[in-house]
Amino acid sequence: MAKEKKEKAAEKKDKTATRKKKDTLTQVITPDSYQFLKTYINTPSPVGFESGGQKLWLQYIQPFVDTTFTDPYGTAVGVINPDAPFKVVIEAHADEISWFVNYITADGLIYLKRNGGVDHQIAPAKRVWIHGKKGAVKAVFGWPAIHTRLGGGEKEQQPKVENLFLDCGARSKKEVEALGIHVGSVVTYEEGFDELANGYLIGRAFDNRIGGFMIAEVARLLKEQQQTLPFGLYIVNAVQEEIGLRGAEMIARRIKPNVAIITDVTHDTQTPMINKMVEGDIACGKGPSPCYGPAVHNKLLALVEDVAEKNNIPLQMRAVSRSTGTDTDSFAFANDGCPSVLISIPLRYMHTTVEMLHKSDIESTIQLMYHTLLNLTPSTNLSYFD
Ligand SMILES: [Zn+2]
Repeated sequence: MAKEKKEKAAEKKDKTATRKKKDTLTQVITPDSYQFLKTYINTPSPVGFESGGQKLWLQYIQPFVDTTFTDPYGTAVGVINPDAPFKVVIEAHADEISWFVNYITADGLIYLKRNGGVDHQIAPAKRVWIHGKKGAVKAVFGWPAIHTRLGGGEKEQQPKVENLFLDCGARSKKEVEALGIHVGSVVTYEEGFDELANGYLIGRAFDNRIGGFMIAEVARLLKEQQQTLPFGLYIVNAVQEEIGLRGAEMIARRIKPNVAIITDVTHDTQTPMINKMVEGDIACGKGPSPCYGPAVHNKLLALVEDVAEKNNIPLQMRAVSRSTGTDTDSFAFANDGCPSVLISIPLRYMHTTVEMLHKSDIESTIQLMYHTLLNLTPSTNLSYFD
Protein backbone atom coordinates (compact mmCIF):
# COMPACT_ATOMS: atom_id res chain seq x y z
CA MET A 1 0.00 0.00 0.00
CA ALA A 2 2.64 2.48 1.07
CA LYS A 3 4.70 1.50 -1.92
CA GLU A 4 1.75 2.18 -4.25
CA LYS A 5 1.22 5.63 -2.76
CA LYS A 6 4.86 6.40 -3.18
CA GLU A 7 4.72 5.28 -6.82
CA LYS A 8 1.72 7.50 -7.51
CA ALA A 9 3.45 10.50 -5.99
CA ALA A 10 6.50 9.82 -8.10
CA GLU A 11 4.31 9.52 -11.19
CA LYS A 12 2.69 12.88 -10.47
CA LYS A 13 6.08 14.48 -9.97
CA ASP A 14 7.24 12.97 -13.25
CA LYS A 15 4.28 14.41 -15.15
CA THR A 16 4.81 17.96 -13.83
CA ALA A 17 8.44 17.68 -14.74
CA THR A 18 7.64 16.79 -18.34
CA ARG A 19 5.08 19.55 -18.68
CA LYS A 20 7.77 22.15 -18.05
CA LYS A 21 9.79 22.60 -21.22
CA LYS A 22 13.36 22.51 -20.11
CA ASP A 23 16.19 23.95 -22.14
CA THR A 24 18.90 21.85 -20.59
CA LEU A 25 18.01 18.27 -19.84
CA THR A 26 20.21 17.47 -16.92
CA GLN A 27 18.87 14.03 -16.20
CA VAL A 28 17.66 12.06 -19.15
CA ILE A 29 17.28 8.42 -18.11
CA THR A 30 14.13 7.73 -16.06
CA PRO A 31 13.41 4.64 -13.92
CA ASP A 32 11.18 3.34 -16.73
CA SER A 33 13.71 3.88 -19.48
CA TYR A 34 16.45 2.36 -17.32
CA GLN A 35 14.30 -0.74 -16.89
CA PHE A 36 13.86 -0.91 -20.67
CA LEU A 37 17.63 -0.68 -21.12
CA LYS A 38 18.20 -3.64 -18.78
CA THR A 39 15.58 -5.81 -20.49
CA TYR A 40 16.82 -4.83 -23.94
CA ILE A 41 20.44 -5.70 -23.13
CA ASN A 42 19.36 -9.02 -21.62
CA THR A 43 17.40 -9.98 -24.76
CA PRO A 44 19.53 -11.90 -27.27
CA SER A 45 19.72 -10.22 -30.68
CA PRO A 46 22.28 -12.22 -32.71
CA VAL A 47 23.30 -11.05 -36.19
CA GLY A 48 20.66 -12.18 -38.67
CA PHE A 49 18.25 -13.15 -35.88
CA GLU A 50 17.57 -9.79 -34.27
CA SER A 51 13.78 -9.92 -34.19
CA GLY A 52 13.49 -10.60 -30.42
CA GLY A 53 15.30 -7.39 -29.53
CA GLN A 54 13.68 -5.50 -32.40
CA LYS A 55 10.14 -6.34 -31.22
CA LEU A 56 10.97 -5.09 -27.75
CA TRP A 57 12.53 -1.90 -29.14
CA LEU A 58 9.56 -1.21 -31.44
CA GLN A 59 7.17 -1.64 -28.54
CA TYR A 60 9.19 0.85 -26.48
CA ILE A 61 9.37 3.60 -29.13
CA GLN A 62 5.77 3.22 -30.36
CA PRO A 63 4.32 5.95 -28.06
CA PHE A 64 6.99 8.45 -29.11
CA VAL A 65 6.59 8.25 -32.91
CA ASP A 66 3.85 8.71 -35.51
CA THR A 67 4.44 5.41 -37.25
CA THR A 68 6.83 2.46 -37.46
CA PHE A 69 7.91 0.08 -40.18
CA THR A 70 10.34 -2.79 -40.70
CA ASP A 71 12.24 -4.04 -43.73
CA PRO A 72 12.62 -7.60 -45.10
CA TYR A 73 15.75 -8.37 -43.04
CA GLY A 74 14.39 -6.95 -39.78
CA THR A 75 15.63 -3.37 -39.54
CA ALA A 76 13.12 -1.44 -37.43
CA VAL A 77 12.22 2.21 -37.95
CA GLY A 78 10.14 4.69 -35.98
CA VAL A 79 9.08 7.82 -37.86
CA ILE A 80 8.09 11.30 -36.70
CA ASN A 81 6.47 13.42 -39.47
CA PRO A 82 6.34 10.65 -42.09
CA ASP A 83 5.03 12.99 -44.81
CA ALA A 84 7.85 15.53 -44.63
CA PRO A 85 9.99 15.59 -47.80
CA PHE A 86 13.26 16.33 -45.94
CA LYS A 87 14.41 13.24 -44.06
CA VAL A 88 16.82 12.98 -41.15
CA VAL A 89 17.98 9.64 -39.76
CA ILE A 90 19.29 8.89 -36.28
CA GLU A 91 20.68 5.40 -36.29
CA ALA A 92 22.10 2.55 -34.24
CA HIS A 93 22.69 -1.12 -34.94
CA ALA A 94 20.57 -3.78 -33.29
CA ASP A 95 22.63 -6.92 -33.84
CA GLU A 96 24.98 -8.60 -31.42
CA ILE A 97 27.97 -10.78 -32.25
CA SER A 98 27.36 -14.48 -31.73
CA TRP A 99 28.30 -17.96 -32.90
CA PHE A 100 26.79 -20.48 -35.33
CA VAL A 101 26.57 -24.23 -34.66
CA ASN A 102 28.76 -25.69 -37.41
CA TYR A 103 29.43 -29.35 -36.58
CA ILE A 104 28.01 -31.82 -34.08
CA THR A 105 30.28 -34.74 -33.15
CA ALA A 106 29.10 -38.35 -32.70
CA ASP A 107 29.52 -37.94 -28.92
CA GLY A 108 27.46 -34.78 -28.75
CA LEU A 109 30.01 -31.96 -28.67
CA ILE A 110 29.33 -28.90 -30.78
CA TYR A 111 31.85 -26.98 -32.89
CA LEU A 112 31.15 -23.44 -34.02
CA LYS A 113 31.66 -20.76 -36.60
CA ARG A 114 31.75 -17.04 -35.86
CA ASN A 115 28.70 -14.90 -36.57
CA GLY A 116 30.38 -11.49 -36.40
CA GLY A 117 33.63 -10.73 -34.58
CA VAL A 118 33.21 -12.81 -31.41
CA ASP A 119 36.40 -13.07 -29.38
CA HIS A 120 37.69 -16.66 -29.15
CA GLN A 121 40.09 -15.65 -26.34
CA ILE A 122 37.26 -15.07 -23.87
CA ALA A 123 35.24 -18.19 -24.71
CA PRO A 124 36.64 -20.99 -22.48
CA ALA A 125 34.32 -21.79 -19.55
CA LYS A 126 31.67 -19.27 -20.62
CA ARG A 127 27.97 -20.18 -20.32
CA VAL A 128 25.85 -19.78 -23.45
CA TRP A 129 22.38 -20.15 -24.89
CA ILE A 130 22.00 -22.20 -28.05
CA HIS A 131 18.93 -20.89 -29.86
CA GLY A 132 17.48 -24.05 -31.36
CA LYS A 133 14.15 -25.02 -32.89
CA LYS A 134 12.67 -25.86 -29.48
CA GLY A 135 13.84 -22.66 -27.79
CA ALA A 136 17.04 -21.73 -26.00
CA VAL A 137 19.22 -24.53 -24.62
CA LYS A 138 21.92 -23.95 -21.98
CA ALA A 139 25.46 -25.01 -22.75
CA VAL A 140 29.05 -24.24 -21.79
CA PHE A 141 32.31 -23.76 -23.62
CA GLY A 142 34.16 -26.79 -22.29
CA TRP A 143 37.91 -26.37 -21.78
CA PRO A 144 40.40 -28.99 -20.57
CA ALA A 145 41.46 -28.72 -16.94
CA ILE A 146 44.79 -27.08 -16.13
CA HIS A 147 45.94 -30.51 -14.88
CA THR A 148 45.24 -32.35 -18.09
CA ARG A 149 46.07 -29.91 -20.83
CA LEU A 150 49.81 -29.69 -20.13
CA GLY A 151 50.59 -33.23 -21.29
CA GLY A 152 54.23 -34.00 -22.18
CA GLY A 153 55.60 -30.49 -21.67
CA GLU A 154 54.26 -29.22 -25.02
CA LYS A 155 53.32 -25.59 -25.48
CA GLU A 156 49.95 -24.77 -23.92
CA GLN A 157 47.03 -24.63 -26.36
CA GLN A 158 45.41 -21.26 -26.94
CA PRO A 159 41.64 -21.05 -27.58
CA LYS A 160 40.92 -20.94 -31.31
CA VAL A 161 37.68 -21.32 -33.22
CA GLU A 162 38.90 -24.77 -34.33
CA ASN A 163 39.45 -26.12 -30.78
CA LEU A 164 36.55 -24.48 -28.96
CA PHE A 165 33.47 -26.63 -28.43
CA LEU A 166 30.16 -26.50 -26.59
CA ASP A 167 28.91 -29.12 -24.16
CA CYS A 168 25.15 -28.99 -23.60
CA GLY A 169 24.89 -32.22 -21.60
CA ALA A 170 24.06 -34.37 -24.61
CA ARG A 171 26.27 -37.41 -25.15
CA SER A 172 25.40 -38.20 -28.75
CA LYS A 173 24.50 -36.31 -31.92
CA LYS A 174 21.00 -37.71 -31.53
CA GLU A 175 20.67 -36.25 -28.04
CA VAL A 176 21.88 -32.86 -29.30
CA GLU A 177 19.29 -32.92 -32.09
CA ALA A 178 16.56 -33.99 -29.68
CA LEU A 179 17.07 -30.65 -27.91
CA GLY A 180 16.22 -28.82 -31.15
CA ILE A 181 19.85 -27.88 -31.85
CA HIS A 182 20.89 -28.00 -35.50
CA VAL A 183 23.68 -26.79 -37.76
CA GLY A 184 22.97 -23.08 -38.10
CA SER A 185 21.54 -22.55 -34.61
CA VAL A 186 22.91 -19.29 -33.22
CA VAL A 187 24.66 -19.10 -29.88
CA THR A 188 24.86 -16.14 -27.52
CA TYR A 189 26.63 -15.67 -24.21
CA GLU A 190 24.51 -15.78 -21.11
CA GLU A 191 25.98 -12.81 -19.19
CA GLY A 192 23.81 -9.71 -19.15
CA PHE A 193 23.37 -6.27 -17.67
CA ASP A 194 24.92 -5.28 -14.35
CA GLU A 195 26.04 -2.21 -12.46
CA LEU A 196 29.45 -1.40 -11.01
CA ALA A 197 30.45 1.41 -8.68
CA ASN A 198 30.59 5.07 -9.69
CA GLY A 199 28.09 4.99 -12.56
CA TYR A 200 29.70 2.23 -14.60
CA LEU A 201 27.47 -0.30 -16.35
CA ILE A 202 28.51 -3.65 -17.80
CA GLY A 203 26.73 -5.85 -20.27
CA ARG A 204 26.90 -8.10 -23.27
CA ALA A 205 26.62 -6.29 -26.61
CA PHE A 206 26.29 -2.74 -25.41
CA ASP A 207 27.85 -2.59 -28.90
CA ASN A 208 25.56 -1.29 -30.10
CA ARG A 209 22.29 -1.79 -28.33
CA ILE A 210 23.24 1.19 -26.20
CA GLY A 211 22.81 3.09 -29.49
CA GLY A 212 19.32 1.62 -29.92
CA PHE A 213 18.53 2.79 -26.42
CA MET A 214 19.93 6.27 -27.01
CA ILE A 215 18.02 6.94 -30.23
CA ALA A 216 14.83 5.69 -28.57
CA GLU A 217 15.46 8.11 -25.71
CA VAL A 218 15.89 10.97 -28.18
CA ALA A 219 12.44 10.12 -29.58
CA ARG A 220 11.01 10.00 -26.06
CA LEU A 221 12.47 13.41 -25.17
CA LEU A 222 11.16 15.00 -28.36
CA LYS A 223 7.70 13.72 -27.51
CA GLU A 224 7.80 14.64 -23.83
CA GLN A 225 9.24 18.08 -24.48
CA GLN A 226 6.59 18.58 -27.19
CA GLN A 227 9.16 19.57 -29.79
CA THR A 228 8.07 19.89 -33.39
CA LEU A 229 10.64 19.21 -36.07
CA PRO A 230 10.71 20.83 -39.53
CA PHE A 231 11.62 17.49 -41.12
CA GLY A 232 10.79 13.80 -41.01
CA LEU A 233 12.80 12.02 -38.34
CA TYR A 234 13.60 8.35 -38.96
CA ILE A 235 14.76 6.52 -35.84
CA VAL A 236 16.54 3.53 -37.33
CA ASN A 237 17.65 0.39 -35.48
CA ALA A 238 19.51 -1.47 -38.24
CA VAL A 239 20.36 -5.17 -38.37
CA GLN A 240 23.57 -6.88 -39.51
CA GLU A 241 26.20 -4.22 -38.78
CA GLU A 242 28.68 -6.66 -37.29
CA ILE A 243 29.14 -8.61 -40.52
CA GLY A 244 29.65 -5.65 -42.86
CA LEU A 245 27.22 -2.76 -42.22
CA ARG A 246 24.57 -4.55 -44.28
CA GLY A 247 21.32 -3.54 -42.57
CA ALA A 248 22.23 0.13 -42.83
CA GLU A 249 23.06 -0.33 -46.49
CA MET A 250 19.58 -1.71 -47.17
CA ILE A 251 17.62 0.82 -45.14
CA ALA A 252 19.61 3.83 -46.40
CA ARG A 253 18.47 2.97 -49.93
CA ARG A 254 14.89 2.57 -48.79
CA ILE A 255 14.66 5.83 -46.80
CA LYS A 256 16.97 7.96 -48.97
CA PRO A 257 17.70 10.38 -46.13
CA ASN A 258 19.05 13.92 -46.56
CA VAL A 259 21.08 13.77 -43.33
CA ALA A 260 22.14 10.89 -41.09
CA ILE A 261 23.37 10.94 -37.49
CA ILE A 262 24.87 7.58 -36.55
CA THR A 263 25.73 6.28 -33.11
CA ASP A 264 28.06 3.45 -32.21
CA VAL A 265 30.64 2.59 -29.58
CA THR A 266 34.35 3.39 -29.65
CA HIS A 267 37.31 2.19 -27.60
CA ASP A 268 38.12 3.71 -24.23
CA THR A 269 41.92 3.66 -24.42
CA GLN A 270 42.79 3.99 -20.74
CA THR A 271 43.28 0.30 -19.90
CA PRO A 272 46.47 -1.78 -20.30
CA MET A 273 47.72 -3.14 -23.64
CA ILE A 274 46.19 -0.33 -25.71
CA ASN A 275 48.54 2.04 -27.50
CA LYS A 276 47.29 5.63 -27.35
CA MET A 277 49.70 6.53 -30.15
CA VAL A 278 47.64 4.25 -32.37
CA GLU A 279 44.17 4.32 -30.79
CA GLY A 280 44.05 7.92 -29.51
CA ASP A 281 43.12 9.17 -26.05
CA ILE A 282 39.49 8.40 -25.17
CA ALA A 283 38.03 7.78 -21.73
CA CYS A 284 34.68 6.59 -20.41
CA GLY A 285 32.89 9.32 -18.48
CA LYS A 286 34.43 12.18 -20.44
CA GLY A 287 31.71 12.59 -23.05
CA PRO A 288 30.67 11.42 -26.50
CA SER A 289 33.33 10.88 -29.13
CA PRO A 290 32.55 12.13 -32.65
CA CYS A 291 35.19 11.53 -35.29
CA TYR A 292 36.79 13.11 -38.31
CA GLY A 293 37.04 10.99 -41.44
CA PRO A 294 36.17 11.27 -45.13
CA ALA A 295 32.72 9.68 -44.64
CA VAL A 296 31.94 12.17 -41.88
CA HIS A 297 30.49 15.37 -43.30
CA ASN A 298 32.64 18.29 -42.13
CA LYS A 299 29.84 20.85 -41.97
CA LEU A 300 27.49 18.51 -40.16
CA LEU A 301 30.28 17.67 -37.71
CA ALA A 302 30.91 21.39 -37.17
CA LEU A 303 27.22 21.78 -36.32
CA VAL A 304 27.45 18.94 -33.78
CA GLU A 305 30.58 20.50 -32.22
CA ASP A 306 28.85 23.87 -32.03
CA VAL A 307 25.76 22.33 -30.38
CA ALA A 308 28.00 20.54 -27.85
CA GLU A 309 29.77 23.76 -26.95
CA LYS A 310 26.53 25.71 -26.50
CA ASN A 311 25.07 22.98 -24.27
CA ASN A 312 28.23 22.35 -22.25
CA ILE A 313 28.59 18.78 -23.49
CA PRO A 314 32.26 17.72 -23.44
CA LEU A 315 33.48 15.94 -26.58
CA GLN A 316 36.42 13.63 -27.21
CA MET A 317 37.38 14.01 -30.86
CA ARG A 318 38.98 11.21 -32.83
CA ALA A 319 40.17 10.63 -36.37
CA VAL A 320 39.57 7.52 -38.45
CA SER A 321 41.59 6.24 -41.36
CA ARG A 322 39.73 5.52 -44.63
CA SER A 323 36.39 4.31 -43.23
CA THR A 324 34.65 4.65 -39.88
CA GLY A 325 33.93 0.90 -39.75
CA THR A 326 30.41 1.79 -38.65
CA ASP A 327 27.03 2.22 -40.33
CA THR A 328 28.12 5.81 -41.04
CA ASP A 329 29.89 4.45 -44.13
CA SER A 330 26.71 2.79 -45.38
CA PHE A 331 24.68 5.98 -45.00
CA ALA A 332 27.33 8.38 -46.31
CA PHE A 333 28.02 6.39 -49.46
CA ALA A 334 24.45 5.31 -50.14
CA ASN A 335 22.38 6.79 -52.94
CA ASP A 336 23.87 10.09 -54.13
CA GLY A 337 25.86 10.71 -50.95
CA CYS A 338 24.18 11.58 -47.67
CA PRO A 339 25.79 14.05 -45.23
CA SER A 340 26.49 11.82 -42.24
CA VAL A 341 28.08 12.18 -38.85
CA LEU A 342 29.19 9.58 -36.29
CA ILE A 343 28.73 10.18 -32.58
CA SER A 344 30.31 7.32 -30.66
CA ILE A 345 30.17 6.48 -27.00
CA PRO A 346 33.36 5.32 -25.25
CA LEU A 347 33.35 1.69 -24.15
CA ARG A 348 35.85 -0.64 -22.48
CA TYR A 349 36.43 -4.29 -23.45
CA MET A 350 34.55 -4.27 -26.78
CA HIS A 351 33.24 -7.62 -28.05
CA THR A 352 33.63 -9.24 -24.63
CA THR A 353 30.75 -10.09 -22.29
CA VAL A 354 31.75 -7.29 -19.91
CA GLU A 355 31.56 -4.31 -22.23
CA MET A 356 31.67 -1.29 -19.93
CA LEU A 357 30.11 2.15 -20.27
CA HIS A 358 29.66 5.18 -18.08
CA LYS A 359 26.09 6.35 -17.47
CA SER A 360 27.05 10.01 -17.89
CA ASP A 361 28.22 9.34 -21.46
CA ILE A 362 24.87 7.75 -22.30
CA GLU A 363 23.04 10.82 -21.03
CA SER A 364 25.30 13.34 -22.74
CA THR A 365 25.17 11.46 -26.05
CA ILE A 366 21.36 11.49 -25.92
CA GLN A 367 21.45 15.23 -25.17
CA LEU A 368 23.91 15.88 -27.98
CA MET A 369 21.70 14.12 -30.54
CA TYR A 370 18.57 15.80 -29.20
CA HIS A 371 20.01 19.31 -29.38
CA THR A 372 21.60 18.65 -32.77
CA LEU A 373 18.16 17.76 -34.14
CA LEU A 374 16.69 20.95 -32.67
CA ASN A 375 19.40 22.96 -34.46
CA LEU A 376 18.95 21.31 -37.83
CA THR A 377 16.50 22.46 -40.54
CA PRO A 378 16.04 21.56 -44.22
CA SER A 379 17.80 24.84 -45.05
CA THR A 380 20.88 24.21 -42.89
CA ASN A 381 23.72 24.92 -45.30
CA LEU A 382 25.76 21.75 -45.67
CA SER A 383 27.48 22.74 -48.94
CA TYR A 384 31.28 22.47 -49.02
CA PHE A 385 31.36 25.38 -51.50
CA ASP A 386 29.62 28.25 -49.74
ZN1 LIG B 1 30.93 -4.39 -32.76
